[in-house]
Amino acid sequence: MRITRVVSQLLHVPLSRPRASPAEAKAGRLNHIVVLLVHVHTEADLTGLGFAYALQGSGRAMLALAEDDLTPLVVGEDALDHERLAAKVYWRLQTIGRRGLVQQAYSAIDLALWDLKGKAAGLPLYKLLGGARESAPVYGSDTAWLWMSPQEILDASRPYLDQGMMGIKVKVGADPEADAERLTQLREALGDDVWLGVDANERYDYGTALAMGHFFEDEIGADWFEEPITCEDVEGHARLASKLEIAIAGGEMLFGLDEFRSYLERDALAVVQPDVTRLGGLTGWLKVAALTEAHHRPLSPHLLPEVGVHLACGLPNVANVEYMPWLYPLFTNPPKIEQGRLVPPPGPGLGLELDTDAAAKYRVAFSP
Ligand SMILES: [Mg+2]
Repeated sequence: MRITRVVSQLLHVPLSRPRASPAEAKAGRLNHIVVLLVHVHTEADLTGLGFAYALQGSGRAMLALAEDDLTPLVVGEDALDHERLAAKVYWRLQTIGRRGLVQQAYSAIDLALWDLKGKAAGLPLYKLLGGARESAPVYGSDTAWLWMSPQEILDASRPYLDQGMMGIKVKVGADPEADAERLTQLREALGDDVWLGVDANERYDYGTALAMGHFFEDEIGADWFEEPITCEDVEGHARLASKLEIAIAGGEMLFGLDEFRSYLERDALAVVQPDVTRLGGLTGWLKVAALTEAHHRPLSPHLLPEVGVHLACGLPNVANVEYMPWLYPLFTNPPKIEQGRLVPPPGPGLGLELDTDAAAKYRVAFSP
């Protein structure tokens, strides 16, 4: 199934609920998501849809990489050869980026190759991956930003909880005392049965993380403690994991299989959260999944429920999906919540239909 052309577009999609406060936005934290959208066309008349994202920056470099460096490497190749193409890209572009932007931009193409594989087979991706289940547990992740008060968090989360989602994840890390206060209020309002994750986005130092970890497990009964400290500190994560009962979650910032290996070998993560766009796409993600399974740890895909639902329904060791519907405006049929669980769209591959009007509306054009 020869690739005839790759069409890349860059979009800036506004977030339906801002993640940055007005002060943070003024300081440059974006309230839109930068999306690299690719269509991989083939001589078989099938087209694969893939995407990658960034949370900061213009995205211009990602688009340039896709158009100038990645597209020439894959046009004329067999779209089914995802391993060979991933290796080709790695070796050809190693000198400008073994990790980072090169892998991020290539993730969009790799995802499109997997979409094509499903379309060629006439199977939804989750069936191709293994068909572990027909729907997946899901938690709400866009209802509890740092700028929100407990009442705002409860109001925003109610529609999710009413639909039967397992629970919500709350951002912490600005001020430990304020974090403790809002988590106490939230747990009291939500009750003990609602799943409650806390995510520090690497903002605590080690000592604060240790103290807060004890508080989250003893006083809040939190279900996991995500990115407690900087992702560069593997040993710090290992020490926290050995001293705390609460599950340490992380992995969204890790690029490449070896970074995951260093964490897993030190028993530094209880829940592994690889991001499909930081690993060169699904091809890299699946290797992290296999490694994680060998360490008997569950996975929870970072963001992109459009992909996460296939991973959680395809593979038995993927525990749940993070519901961050940032890309939902781009599709006419994103994964739906049914009886509290996320269900993949029934079509082949990713099963996603692009809303072309929305894609046109959010498209960013750079002057040459
Ligand atoms: Mg996170």
